[in-house]
Amino acid sequence: MVSRVIPVDPFDLVIFGGTGDLARRKILPGLFRRFRAGQMDAESRVIGAARSDLDVDGYRAMVREAIAEFDPASARDSEALEAFLGRLGYVVVDAMGETGWDDLEREVNSDRIRAFYFSVGPRLFGELAERLHKHGMADHDSRIVVEKPFGRDLESAKALNATLAQHFHEHQIYRIDHYLGKETVQNLMAVRFGNTLFEPLWNSQYVDHIQITVAESVGVGGRGEYYDRAGAVRDMMQNHLMQLLCLIAMEPPAKFEPDPVRDEKLKVIRALDPVEPGDVVRGQYEASSDAPGYNEQVENQGSTTESFVALKAHVSNWRWAGTPFYLRTGKRLKARASEIAVVFKDAPHSIFGAEAGRHANILTIRLQPNEGIELGVTIKEPGPGGMRLIDVPLDMTFAEALGPDDADFPDAYERLIMDVIRGNQTLFMRDDEVEEAWAWTDPMIAEWEARGEPPLPYASGSSGPDEALALIHRDGRHWREIKP
Ligand code: NAD
Repeated sequence: MVSRVIPVDPFDLVIFGGTGDLARRKILPGLFRRFRAGQMDAESRVIGAARSDLDVDGYRAMVREAIAEFDPASARDSEALEAFLGRLGYVVVDAMGETGWDDLEREVNSDRIRAFYFSVGPRLFGELAERLHKHGMADHDSRIVVEKPFGRDLESAKALNATLAQHFHEHQIYRIDHYLGKETVQNLMAVRFGNTLFEPLWNSQYVDHIQITVAESVGVGGRGEYYDRAGAVRDMMQNHLMQLLCLIAMEPPAKFEPDPVRDEKLKVIRALDPVEPGDVVRGQYEASSDAPGYNEQVENQGSTTESFVALKAHVSNWRWAGTPFYLRTGKRLKARASEIAVVFKDAPHSIFGAEAGRHANILTIRLQPNEGIELGVTIKEPGPGGMRLIDVPLDMTFAEALGPDDADFPDAYERLIMDVIRGNQTLFMRDDEVEEAWAWTDPMIAEWEARGEPPLPYASGSSGPDEALALIHRDGRHWREIKP
């Protein structure tokens, strides 16, 4: 099966922070893949804009190196790479001052779609919006892409929304959450709303509970300074995990279009009960024999920032009353593994007797690694010996089911950037969604800050603190194993 690639209209994409880590690792290699796939029009341009004192040749050399490092397989297509590098421009720009803005204005072509990717630190988001406006680049058709973190609490998120709104309309603002660009996450919606099989069962009558795990095996690394001011709730829970929760829990939108989808997600966040203090476990990883502990990687040695959080959430509406959502995320855990598991209730009565065993159906949506969807189905264990039941997976791993061509999916960033050019905001967060998400996490954070309780230590390479296991055990349930 070969994917259909629909080219987008010609565009000029300016990447503020075009020399930074995110641009080099994700944005530029992603754009190159879209270029190779024929999705990026041959006239379109990508313009790096950053403080580094480079000329366009220097920038091209930097991008060539970045693509060779982060996507060596694509970089081997040297003809395409040279053609792509030919589409690059570079302007030295200071977001905080006047340097370079006139040059940038000359560089972007007003006949094409203009998109400005804010891949810089969050303190510059407002400055960039203001200067784009001042220099006449905030016309009705231009778009801005805003990276995370979008604020650090409700108040700062509101202030940032207000600043952006002074210069751009909401339909021009693309708040990126790359989890929403993942193939599987969109497939979750296809599975839910494209089949009659699941939706009738998608409620508290049939679903026992839902687990969302986003586990990382790495520590804070070089991001210690930012991370220590944020922590797992601000860095991951408020955005990525909540977005996943929304997609799992939302009512069917009337259409797969930006506002119908985002309206339904917003209703989920508004239906969330405040989290009980006893339903949250915070942790911080300790040193291991071969890696430093959290406290050795951040400047503040006595830091009480959490690198792990697990919590139980309740969506208080007709569909989900009585079905808990268990969410956890953390660093330096057993493996890099992210999944959503919808755990259905046991069959109401076993006709096979206790010795046959009972198994709940589990629908697993794996985000990484090996993106795919798997449904655990109970069957008879083959062979003689009576009726014993076992679980077998109906595996919908994309690479296996669809063949190698389709397994070469655009990665989340490239898909989302193409959506920006198409003007499709379905997979981007709206202002009210972001604010409501902070309104839910703020009281939780304020509560533990007021208590001043430090996070619980956990061993590197573990599943987090034992108390996180107890959080779900006490309800007679257990976490799924974190495995690569
Ligand atoms: P980085 O520090 O590697 O790069 C910052 C970039 O901003 C550089 O190109 C620098 O030249 C430019 N810059 C800094 N000050 C400037 C100024 N005054 N005017 C113009 N340009 C200026 O940062 P990064 O890791 O690439 O992150 C960029 C943004 O993306 C941040 O908001 C970060 O939170 C977000 N983000 C990054 C990652 C990641 O994996 N790196 C993941 C998710 C979100």
